[in-house]
This record gives sequence, structure tokens and C-alpha cells, in this order.
Amino acid sequence: MSIQKVAVIGCGLMGREIALATASAGIPTMIFKMTREEELSKVRDKFNERLDKEKQKIVQWDCWKHRGEVEGFKDCDLAIETIVEDLHEKRALFSQLDNLLNPMAIIASNTSTLSVAELASATMRPGRVAGLHFFNPPSVAKLVEVVQTASVYASVVEELQSFVRQLGLTPLVVANTPGFVVNRLMMNDLIYAILCLEGRLAKMEDMDMAKRLGLVHPMGPFELCDHVGLDTILSMAKILYKDLQDERFKPPMLLQRLVKNQMLGRKSKNKLGFYNYNLKPKCPNPEVYALINLERRSLAW
Ligand code: NAD
Repeated sequence: MSIQKVAVIGCGLMGREIALATASAGIPTMIFKMTREEELSKVRDKFNERLDKEKQKIVQWDCWKHRGEVEGFKDCDLAIETIVEDLHEKRALFSQLDNLLNPMAIIASNTSTLSVAELASATMRPGRVAGLHFFNPPSVAKLVEVVQTASVYASVVEELQSFVRQLGLTPLVVANTPGFVVNRLMMNDLIYAILCLEGRLAKMEDMDMAKRLGLVHPMGPFELCDHVGLDTILSMAKILYKDLQDERFKPPMLLQRLVKNQMLGRKSKNKLGFYNYNLKPKCPNPEVYALINLERRSLAW
């Protein structure tokens, strides 16, 4: 069975990019967004501007919880869940998807840190549930972790690898461990950088520049946090800390405070995170230094 039609559920930062990748590869794609119907057309117009009109294969847009959803789902071979990083929300959605989809369809999660086995156990088809962990955005970050649980069928893992290649991306089969491979490596670095900032090692913009120019990383750690979304970084840190019982993943206070203040990075409505994106070029968000009790003017650096 090859994947002929895809449903993407959740249309935030990642859902949009994943749908763009599948639609651009010529695969008919449906998008389900949790929103009011009147808001949907705005998102749809913006999204369509980014698609190559020749290849456009977005076959249906729908609001999650809309009555049309059952019909739309019937002939999908793969549903990719990209909603908020929360086990209860995702399990509830998986159980709903299990009831709506054809029994042969595959359900995949884009979770960064949650156990795919726990998501699979919310369904009656654990052999057809896996992780498909895309990176942000797939047009630039060409890896997809295919997360294998103990119960997933080998044929499903193979099929998902072929699907990833069809999108022009590279699959990496990984075990269902917290954070898989990439995020285990990444989170360690990001949390350490935030702790260094709290400990006043250097200004965040200098640490970002150090990573970019000194270590040839495309982004520094604070830029990367803003790119991913600070709420997502915090959820990942909490899950890794709880699951691995490892102090290295303990969510730093500064990160918790920024999220509490709704400063979530580039995707934030207020365009604030570690940096302020209302200004061009971006500038450090002074609230960050205020939060760690450092008035910029009194810095010794
Ligand atoms: P986001 O906050 O941009 O988007 C989440 C979307 O899910 C929102 O549009 C929200 O309205 C919707 N939503 C929330 N609950 C829902 C529900 N019950 N049903 C339907 N929709 C619901 O987050 P994101 O960055 O796109 O992350 C989504 C998932 O992708 C998370 O699991 C995250 O860990 C993972 N991920 C994120 C990144 C990244 O760089 N941001 C990278 C890889 C994986």
C-alpha cells in the first residue's frame, strides 16, 4: 500500500510546514485546524500563496470538530498529528482518529518528546501507529525521525521511510525513547545556554554569535529557542526531566517566566521571545535581562 492521501491535524508552526511539504510533493493533503470557520479562509489564503499552484494538492480544508470531518477522513492513508505537545490532548485525538480513519490507515505523531507507545495505546491499531518527527521547517531541515515502538509493524516503518523519501527528505529510524535522538542532543545544549545566561556568562546575543561564527551553527541557542517556540521548548524540558530523571533537563526559571509572560518567540502574537521581532533587525528583549535581574545599563560586559 502506498500513501495516496494525507491528513494533517493541527495547523500551527509545524502542521503548516508539513502540509506544505506533502502538498508540494504532489500528495493530496487535507488540513484540519482547530479554529472558527471564518478564520480558516484567512489562513488558507496565506498558505496557498506559498504553494506552487501547478502542484497544489490541498484537497480539503476543514475545521477540527466540523461536521464534515468524518467524510474527509475516510480515504486517508496517513494522518499526521501536529497538535500541542501534551499527552492528554494527543491521546484524546488519537482515540478520535482511530474511530474516524479506515482501519488500514497509519496514524503518526510529530511529537518531539512524548512516548509514541503511549499514544498508540489510545488506539485499537498500535501496529499502525508510529512517530514521524519532522524538523522546522522541512524545506531546510531534511531529516525525519521515524519512531519505532515495540508494537509497530515492520511494513509500516518501511512504508513511512518510503513516504519520507518521496518528500525529498531523509528518514532516520529511531527507538521510542524520550526526545528520540535529535532533541535529546538539542535540549541539553539549549538548557545549558539558558543557565549560562542566568549565570551571566555573556550576553545572549554574544552567545548566539559565538555559536554561529565560532562553531558554524546556523543559529545560536537563543535564536533557536525563539524559532522552535518557548512553550514547546518548556514542554519538552518538562517531559525529558520527568522521564529521564536527569537534572540536565530541568526547566530553567528564566524559560518558565518567559512562557508565563506569553513571550513564546517568533510565533508569538506579541513577537517577543528572547528577542524582540517587532524591530528590524531583531533586538534582545529587555524583559529577559529584567527577569534575571540584570538591567542592561548596569552590565559590566
Ligand atoms: P504550535 O503551538 O505552533 O501549534 C499547535 C497547534 O495545535 C495550534 O494551532 C493549536 O490550535 C492546535 N491544537 C491544540 N490542541 C488541539 C486539539 N486538541 N486539536 C486540534 N488542534 C489542536 O506548535 P508546533 O510548534 O507546531 O508543535 C506541534 C507539535 O510538533 C508538538 O508536538 C511539537 O513538539 C512538535 N514539533 C515542534 C517543532 C518546532 O520546531 N516547533 C519541531 C518538531 C516537532
